[in-house]
Amino acid sequence: MDPSIHIPEQLSSSPPPHFVPCPPQQNHNAFPDPNTVSVPSLVENPNPSSNHYLSFSVPKKRRRGRPQRSPASFRVPVVFNGAMNGNNNDLSPYGSSSSSTSVSVNNPSGVRPVPDASDEIIVINKEPKAEALIALSAGFPADSLTEEEIEAGVLPVIGGIEQVNYTLIRNHIIAKWRENVMNWVTKEMFIDYIPQQYHTLLDSAYNYLVSRGYINFGVAPAIKEKIPAESSKPSVIIIGAGLAGLAAARHLMRFGFKVTVLEGRKRAGGRVYTKKMEGGNRVSAAAELGGSVLTGTHGNPLGIVARQLGYTLHKVRDKCPLYSVDGKPVDPDMDMKVETAFNRLLDKASRLREFMGDVSVDVSLGAALETFRQVYGDAVNDEEMNLFNWHLANLEYANAGLLSNLSLAFWDQDDPYDMGGDHCFLPGGNGRLVQALAENVPILYEKTVHTVRYGSDGVQVITGNQVFDGDMALCTVPLGVLKKGSIKFIPELPQRKLDGIKRLGFGLLNKVAMLFPHVFWETDLDTFGRLFDDPSRRGEFFLFYSYATVAGGPLLIALVAGEAAHKFESMPPTDAVTRVLQILKGIYEPKGINVPEPIQTVCTRWGSDPFCFGSYSNVAVGASGDDYDILAESVGDGRLFFAGEATTRRYPATMHGAFVSGLREAANMAHYANVRSLRMKVDRTPSNAHSCASLLTDLFREPDIEFGSFSVIFSQKNVDPKAPAILRVTFGESRKKTHDLSKQDQQHSNKLLFQQLQSHFNQQQQLHVYTMLSRQQVLELREVRGGDEMRVNYLCEKLGVKLVGRKGLGPTADSVIASIKAERGDRKPISPSIALKPGMSKLKAGIMKRKMIRKAKVVNKSHRSIPPPSTNMGGDKLSGEVSIMDRNLPDVPGAGKNPNEVSKQ
Ligand SMILES: Cc1cc2nc3c(=O)[nH]c(=O)nc-3n(C[C@H](O)[C@H](O)[C@H](O)COP(=O)(O)OP(=O)(O)OC[C@H]3O[C@@H](n4cnc5c(N)ncnc54)[C@H](O)[C@@H]3O)c2cc1C
Repeated sequence: MDPSIHIPEQLSSSPPPHFVPCPPQQNHNAFPDPNTVSVPSLVENPNPSSNHYLSFSVPKKRRRGRPQRSPASFRVPVVFNGAMNGNNNDLSPYGSSSSSTSVSVNNPSGVRPVPDASDEIIVINKEPKAEALIALSAGFPADSLTEEEIEAGVLPVIGGIEQVNYTLIRNHIIAKWRENVMNWVTKEMFIDYIPQQYHTLLDSAYNYLVSRGYINFGVAPAIKEKIPAESSKPSVIIIGAGLAGLAAARHLMRFGFKVTVLEGRKRAGGRVYTKKMEGGNRVSAAAELGGSVLTGTHGNPLGIVARQLGYTLHKVRDKCPLYSVDGKPVDPDMDMKVETAFNRLLDKASRLREFMGDVSVDVSLGAALETFRQVYGDAVNDEEMNLFNWHLANLEYANAGLLSNLSLAFWDQDDPYDMGGDHCFLPGGNGRLVQALAENVPILYEKTVHTVRYGSDGVQVITGNQVFDGDMALCTVPLGVLKKGSIKFIPELPQRKLDGIKRLGFGLLNKVAMLFPHVFWETDLDTFGRLFDDPSRRGEFFLFYSYATVAGGPLLIALVAGEAAHKFESMPPTDAVTRVLQILKGIYEPKGINVPEPIQTVCTRWGSDPFCFGSYSNVAVGASGDDYDILAESVGDGRLFFAGEATTRRYPATMHGAFVSGLREAANMAHYANVRSLRMKVDRTPSNAHSCASLLTDLFREPDIEFGSFSVIFSQKNVDPKAPAILRVTFGESRKKTHDLSKQDQQHSNKLLFQQLQSHFNQQQQLHVYTMLSRQQVLELREVRGGDEMRVNYLCEKLGVKLVGRKGLGPTADSVIASIKAERGDRKPISPSIALKPGMSKLKAGIMKRKMIRKAKVVNKSHRSIPPPSTNMGGDKLSGEVSIMDRNLPDVPGAGKNPNEVSKQ
């Protein structure tokens, strides 16, 4: 296994486990009823020495590098079930009692009669905890279902032992593939040791994982082989050959679709662009002008692709010294002090939003931080204030957005889904991944799409005068392009999508890449920063990335974030380079180090690039995570689909987010094609413009009754107590527990580790399940004493209802939903953010997790080990960037004669 892909040791080498049936243990809490919902939570374990805890090595991430200050291990409670009360109920397959009563299928002596799948738990003899954690790193709650799984109908009924068994099998399949990602994992591999009565669950889990691209994805030969030579399925047109488009194309080709990718640029990769820079004396380097750092390698699918290609990732080292305005190193004690104070301010901002409740959705993070700054401003000296501003710039870099535009309420809504693991560089550049992913994908370059027509018969995608007909289309163009309206959609996109496009932010980050004749900076670091005393310039060349270890040559990249990034778009490149050199000279010349002239320089212009108009998305004031979902919705009865980094609420603004969104939509398109080929009605399938799913989401923004974790909608016109109502139960509101834990964890040595781990567990946030009741029953339910737990108990035991995913509600519920919708008419839906109600509010999502800067540690490697740059580099003319080959040579493009010249990427 690639050592740089850091899977905790305990997780990586386990022999194939045996599944054994074992009877469920006696239940001590209200949840094990098979009709109830099993949603785990992270709760305090009263007995830390119990074997419900396991040691899990958790890497640390910071907004910028710091040496690790404490051991990287924390004991994690693995708790099964017990969603609302937090008790560790006995359905757990991880408890010691379970394994002690288990009987190996390989040793039939003493085997009880073959149990029924519905009342027995499969127990994994070996390493079920390790498998659960691997599943967790792949984005699955260790011991429950994701909302996506519920919607996909992986189980007919949510909860109970079947769900427990399903998750065990699912986790096992994921772990099995991750053991060797070069393999194509088949169902047959499991059939021998998963007892027959569980084969339906095996089918369900395996088919789900393969079709959604959670396993068996990538570019390993065994996986490429599965792409059929001839396409047998309908034709699909993909707009854009970035990571989202490429991932989708490969997955669809594997399904047998006829794929055509239309790309406006002359190259693949989009916002991943590794540019080969070179100069005299054979000096060259691979410069990452766009997406650079693989953030979190635990579950990162691009880390897996790199592994399949045999590439070793390099961790970005923590060391990141800061230099003052005068070039002197910042006193490390002061640096530490201000960083700690800054983190405390973010905590305060987090608490502030809790106090503010709904009002905070109209407030920017910048306004909140500015208020605090004014309060504390007098107490700090100039240097401390400059340091504070540096941290603000760092935050603007992480979000590619001005703090004054970021939503205080939701700017960090994706933190719970942080991949976990180190931040890494791929030596030679991410262009190598692009090159591998683009191999054999039919991409037509320089085809800029200006019109997309969609209707019940199919799609027409138009570039210039050329019309491409297809059964379906996938649009992966950046949010900036959608915002600009560069593509005309006929008919116009639904208003809710247009509103989402408008609400979400799309920010800016620029870079100056400089190839020097030799390395003159320290070689034991990958980053260093520089302070500014003018707050409006705080993001100007505030952070330098040294790529000397991984780029194949002496390359430095300076980042330009925040307001400075916008001004930089029109800054003559010669001025930019002069300024950067001044900074570098200010730092190094006092040390007696001569700073040479760069051999070649490239300035990016992502904001004026017509194929993106910015860098990546963020949650602007007024927007929320819901907007990512809205952007992901397909339109035209499953004809036009959307992918890309701005369509994933879990992993927005990242390379891996773009990649997984492509896989997601490929699966979605295959689903629609299947439905159509089976001539089934598609009016209840997910992602339909006004599908059951999105309709329900809208309606529940304004529930008619709310209590605890329950919300209800019904027709106001029909006052009959027997009239039907739709009840929604929200699970995963573990905020109180989270908060308690944040207090509790102070006794542990490493709070950051804890928070990071906790963020993984928080993936279970906001899981919704539904049922239909009469209004009378709703009122009865509301009166039940003993909290939500007792109410769920009452629901399932007394009323005997089943809680289901959105799709499982059935046609009667659909007509109820439709009539409520009709009754509410065209009343403008309340904004997703301001619709948050106390008790449901994401603002209460416990401790605030901070946005982590994309940074990685890089393991020192000799230059000889660095592979040659990929063909993704510089195949086309520079785009969105200005190139200076040698700023003393006037006849070189962009070198001063026409300094504002920006060529396409
Ligand atoms: C400066 C910068 C730094 C970044 N740093 C990181 C980082 O360190 N780590 C990280 O994980 N992520 C980072 N990102 C974000 C990451 O690069 C993106 O999230 C990801 O690459 C987006 O992929 P995508 O497929 O969604 O979009 P894109 O890569 O933009 O792909 C969309 C494609 O559509 C094409 N297109 C656009 N309009 C048309 C049209 N009309 N017709 C035809 N084709 C069209 C584009 O040319 C492009 O190829 C960074 C991005 C930038 C810009």
